[in-house]
Amino acid sequence: MQYRGLIPFSGGVDSTAGLYLTLTRYPDDHFLVFKVILVNGECASRSVKEEQAVNNILDELRRMGINNFTYRRLSFDYSQLGPPPVWDSEAVNFAAATCIRAHPEIQEFIEGAIGDDYLQEGFQERLDQIEKILYLVSEKTKEELRIVFPLKDRMKYEVMKAIPPKILAMTWSCRYPEGAANWELKRCHKCATCRTIDGVLKKHPEDFPALMDW
Ligand SMILES: [Zn+2]
Repeated sequence: MQYRGLIPFSGGVDSTAGLYLTLTRYPDDHFLVFKVILVNGECASRSVKEEQAVNNILDELRRMGINNFTYRRLSFDYSQLGPPPVWDSEAVNFAAATCIRAHPEIQEFIEGAIGDDYLQEGFQERLDQIEKILYLVSEKTKEELRIVFPLKDRMKYEVMKAIPPKILAMTWSCRYPEGAANWELKRCHKCATCRTIDGVLKKHPEDFPALMDW
């Protein structure tokens, strides 16, 4: 299989939007979708919920007839190093670069940064840093491998609106899931990603009926 591009997919809102928009924009091209299971000792319940989200969303895409992708799961266990010494995005880009080494025909890397991210102090510097990792490890030039930002001009509300409601309800973005009744894990409503999403839902409740009790 020849892949046009590589799409990192965490199961969160932003990467789901990047995945959905890319697959539907280029129905005749095939993409390699990958999830890195980051084992860093930080929050095991988050990995469980993210993996459920990934599987449910990919199944739903296939049911919708969106099949122009292959899914690969990688895991990276650095828990013995103690508290995370690296940003998640650094580990993800390192893994992405190894995928590109395995599939040198890949010409595009789909980066899921959204408009809100650029408002954070130091975000552009972090982005530049992870770009360096991608090019260094893949040994590609900027002409051979293009980084594509399908969401950079969209704020969280627009990103959420870009995803079909049924799929949006399957995403998982909470960093620290909390235990609820019947062994279920619920969103914490306290972490940064929960707060951003809750802000959108509060401002536009009529736009997201499927997320009423999210
Ligand atoms: Zn949360």
